[in-house]
Amino acid sequence: MKILVINAGSSSLKYQLIDMDDESVKAKGLVERIGIEGTHFKQTVPGTDKVIEFTRNMAAHTEAIAAVLDALIDKDNGAIASLDEIGACGHRVLHGGETFSASALITDETMKEIEALIPLGPLHQRPNIAGIRACQEVMPTKPNVAVFDTSFHQTMPPKAFLYGVPYEYYTDLKVRRYGFHGTSHRFIAGEAPKLLGMDPKHCKLIICHLGNGSSLSAIVDGKVVDTSMGLTPLEGVLMGTRSGDVDPAVLEYIMDNTGMDIHQMLNTLNKKSGFAGMSCSSDMRDVKAAAEQGDKQAQNALDVWCYRLQKYIGAYNVAVGGADAIVFTAGIGENDTDSCAKVIEGLAFMGVKVDPQKNKRGVAAVISTDDSTIKVLRIPTNEELLIARDTLEIVSKL
Ligand code: ADP
Repeated sequence: MKILVINAGSSSLKYQLIDMDDESVKAKGLVERIGIEGTHFKQTVPGTDKVIEFTRNMAAHTEAIAAVLDALIDKDNGAIASLDEIGACGHRVLHGGETFSASALITDETMKEIEALIPLGPLHQRPNIAGIRACQEVMPTKPNVAVFDTSFHQTMPPKAFLYGVPYEYYTDLKVRRYGFHGTSHRFIAGEAPKLLGMDPKHCKLIICHLGNGSSLSAIVDGKVVDTSMGLTPLEGVLMGTRSGDVDPAVLEYIMDNTGMDIHQMLNTLNKKSGFAGMSCSSDMRDVKAAAEQGDKQAQNALDVWCYRLQKYIGAYNVAVGGADAIVFTAGIGENDTDSCAKVIEGLAFMGVKVDPQKNKRGVAAVISTDDSTIKVLRIPTNEELLIARDTLEIVSKL
């Protein structure tokens, strides 16, 4: 069976068609500027030079999905002969709240529950829902499955997920820490024990998902005991455009002094902070290049990024009760060998050491020395594959 994996954003839609017989990617694509003048479409077929690329206005996700299906079955540059080959669609959905601790088949009832969670993450949940509705409209006979960014973190105990605020905010408003990037953390939590030759039920991990958005998770025996993102993805380590942890009183002080309202303030913390706010760019490569040229602000941003990661890793070593391994993944974690090594340098007093010979980008490997007290791993993440696997498992039972 082939599964169409959809990741719908507010004005974009990423997709992959995965053949579950061998888990190979048959086609992948990106539609950008949906609902904006000049929608751009691009699909590639891995292992071939087949490309479909064009610019044509698309007002909504339904049009984008229709274009995806046309491209998939395109005679010359498509990937499959007929839409009958697609067995189901798997959707990345931001928020499962406390309702979903696992992936779920889309029914009228689950759709209502997903819609009820819009207030917890309106910017992502709405387009995610639009992506599901578009598939229902364009392919009414195919089942849809929702895979939530939050659900893997639902095993966190109250001591990790409760904020120190009046309890009724939790009971009445569901204010708590949820965590995100759950699909990536779950994928890595499955792969790391294989690389370590350990039983996943007896394995303690600290997973560092370091991309544009970044989060850490503390994993004991396959279950999350803590993670760095909170009610929203703003909490935690320093990111490309997000501040990570700040004293909440900073908000009032800045607002009083600049005249910003709370929406502008949060927009600044989400989109104009982190690397982007502290230095010249949200992109790690640019920040490093600037620091190498002697840019002090860029160096400060790198130092804050590194130090905060080290502090979180130290804290999560406590959370798991002594980690077996620290794992790096996502854009920075998979590719930036120097920065990963720098983070680990700060843990040398604990006996953790990266082996420069093994510290190679892009491949799944143990990168620590043989005598390192905690193993250090690099594992490329694959959220799409996990979404496809969940989808297959759920629709196989229908
Ligand atoms: P997203 O959260 O958007 O999925 P990614 O996981 O693609 O982000 O990660 C993007 C980040 O990875 C950027 O900061 C980028 O600079 C960084 N990155 C990618 N390749 C490299 C590299 N070779 N060296 C350093 N950083 C890299």
